[in-house]
Amino acid sequence: MNMMTELETEARFVDQFGRSKRKLRISVTDRCNFKCLYCMPEHPEWMKKHDLLSFEQLYHFCDFMVRRGIESIRITGGEPLMRQGVVHFIAQLQQLKKLGLKRISMTTNAHYLGQYAQALKQAGLDDLNISLDSLDANQFKQLTQKELAPVLDGIRTAQDVGLPIKINSVLMNGINDNQILPLARWSVKEKINLRFIEFMPLDGERKWSSAHVVSEQQILDTLATEFAVTHQLNDAAQSSSDPARQYLMDGHPIGIISTITHSFCGTCDRVRLTAQGEFYNCLFAPKGLNLKAEIKALAASIPLSELGLHRTVSNYIWNKEQGFHAIQQRLKNEPSRKISMHMIGG
Ligand code: SAM
Ligand code: SF4
Repeated sequence: MNMMTELETEARFVDQFGRSKRKLRISVTDRCNFKCLYCMPEHPEWMKKHDLLSFEQLYHFCDFMVRRGIESIRITGGEPLMRQGVVHFIAQLQQLKKLGLKRISMTTNAHYLGQYAQALKQAGLDDLNISLDSLDANQFKQLTQKELAPVLDGIRTAQDVGLPIKINSVLMNGINDNQILPLARWSVKEKINLRFIEFMPLDGERKWSSAHVVSEQQILDTLATEFAVTHQLNDAAQSSSDPARQYLMDGHPIGIISTITHSFCGTCDRVRLTAQGEFYNCLFAPKGLNLKAEIKALAASIPLSELGLHRTVSNYIWNKEQGFHAIQQRLKNEPSRKISMHMIGG
């Protein structure tokens, strides 16, 4: 490799607004055993298994990205625990820690966590985000089409094996906004980190409307009926790239990810890859970049494939738009894109 090429391929990825990319999310499958109202379409068309990148190919891509500044990898889906081999993949990713990778995380619905928590811990997983949108068993079933009990069992098992967890709760007006206080009380009692998430226009049925969004202010007002709520302003509590705005309720931390009413796009350090190799520079990007052939070539060590991939990715990341509101504004008269959260992984 000549000097010029070496410099070029080891450069970090940064976009036109100066935001360096440090976090990579990999959706390892679009399949899921849940049918969350705010996520899954009524009749999902699953990606074909033979179209998915193998874990070996995904590993080569992760290695490539870590050598260009990625410090944190989150495994997501669909439901990541539904893809066979995911635990081994996490164990394999540990090798990238010597190249600068600091954290390997997973986002899961926790249905299978009772079964997998111990193995995930042994594989070196650093932490888990778990989705839980209701503590009422009937409401949970209406929201997800699945039972609540295995999820609560999965949460307990993860705690027992010593995996740090955060709970993510998406709220929808008129559906589960009555869960703000029950979830808050539960998080205080169980000493669990809870983050409420504003509903985003990424649902499979494309029925999102701003009327469904439970805003940060609505959440704070509801919490304030029972707790003393204060904003946490110190830097240690609020890292610049953390999407959650941090509060304390009676001294217990609580986060709110308010993409709609307080977008955090200004400090976004994330990029995403779907299970079939579609790369997204933004959760709301109207179009991804198909990298499947390039990633396969990289994994097969085809000469110059790394340089080609570097140029393609670097150019696409550079052109990342300013964020959610800018994209919404630009596309307001165009049909919405087909990708939904179960493909891109949140
Ligand atoms: N199946 C796993 C789970 O549910 O945790 C991982 C994939 S899921 C797509 C990742 C995250 O996206 C979850 O926390 C989920 O609540 C969130 N999510 C899905 N659809 C959403 C939407 N329309 N708005 C906001 N968050 C959403
Ligand atoms: Fe499945 Fe997660 Fe989407 Fe729910 S949010 S349908 S658990 S991928």
